[in-house]
Amino acid sequence: MTTRVQAWGAAEAGAPILSLEIERRDPRPRDVVVDIDYCGVCHSDIHTARGEWGQPLLPVVPGHEIVGHVTAVGAEVTKFKVGDHVGVGVIVDSCGECEACKAGFENYCRKDNVGTYNSRDLVTGDTTFGGYATSIVVDEDFVLRMPEGLDPAAAAPLLCAGITLWSPLRHWGAGPGKRVAVMGLGGLGHMGVKLAHALGAHVTVLSHSASKRADALALGADEFIVSSDAEQMRAVEASFDLILNTVSAELDINAYLKLLGWNGTLVILGLPGKPMAVHAHHLLDSRRRLAGSGIGGLRETQEMLDFCAEHGIVSEIERITPDAINTAWDRVVASDVKYRFVIDIKG
Ligand code: NAP
Ligand code: ZN
Repeated sequence: MTTRVQAWGAAEAGAPILSLEIERRDPRPRDVVVDIDYCGVCHSDIHTARGEWGQPLLPVVPGHEIVGHVTAVGAEVTKFKVGDHVGVGVIVDSCGECEACKAGFENYCRKDNVGTYNSRDLVTGDTTFGGYATSIVVDEDFVLRMPEGLDPAAAAPLLCAGITLWSPLRHWGAGPGKRVAVMGLGGLGHMGVKLAHALGAHVTVLSHSASKRADALALGADEFIVSSDAEQMRAVEASFDLILNTVSAELDINAYLKLLGWNGTLVILGLPGKPMAVHAHHLLDSRRRLAGSGIGGLRETQEMLDFCAEHGIVSEIERITPDAINTAWDRVVASDVKYRFVIDIKG
């Protein structure tokens, strides 16, 4: 059995986002039914729906920064009850049996992790639909507890942008005495600045938008470099322990590898969708590493949410109503958002 609910999505790759209806399954024994209050707009929503990563499953209903409250639970649910404030991020299921799942890194499931949207349900094979909708039904193991005291709209982007930066910052040991650079001050990047600063690292923003300097410093950056300014870039050559690349567009990665110090690591997070060319000598020079990181596991996502509650960290947001999604997407692509759009689903 299913229930028809209101959603917003694209009927074809690259088509505008329009109001439509989708089916949500009735809760299985371990499912939680979430009434959605807010959903963040991630650049991945745009890449997916516009076909920049290949043909999406249609219709595509994006959204994986979901905050809402529980309206019903299946008979075997133990972690949540009706009324709880909850979040849902980028994945809604995984095999649960592989090495990665057992270690709490469902994001690296070796078999079948299921995306919140544009993916296939492991039981029915049905297309998954994301948070640009009035409700969602999710296995309780993939539901997060939203801590008290965080503004729910501003906390929504923590479910993707927050965890995507938190995981590599923790994995590569960002903290006091470490020099961390964040490439791109967008949705992901501004969360990286806030989190790295709260972890005690020295934070530099590398941006192609000179106008973002004051914001970067206010968000917690110690330094701001305009990436098109050769002199500014030369001044920070061979200086960083960790660089997190959140840029959504193609760029010359070699210009940034040079900025790593000895044993430094550049982590790719941005996904423009095309291969990049790497000059090997930039890696050999100082035993540098080029790495990647994809969102985070459920356990570390909860850890990040609790850290944010403790430190009062949320996203800088612009609230929109569902009818403004198309305009908001164009502004995201133009790097013109401060710093995350969040859809007020009931607005
Ligand atoms: P966003 O808000 O659009 O931010 C991207 C930033 O990249 C922009 O604010 C801009 O920063 C910079 N940028 C954009 N176009 C550029 C260009 N032509 N040249 C140089 N810099 C440019 O996007 P987002 O939501 O943060 O997502 C960023 C990327 O991460 C996307 O590709 C997304 O799909 C990917 N992503 C990956 C994961 C993961 O698990 N690894 C998770 C979520 C998203 P400045 O103006 O400061 O230069
Ligand atoms: Zn995302």
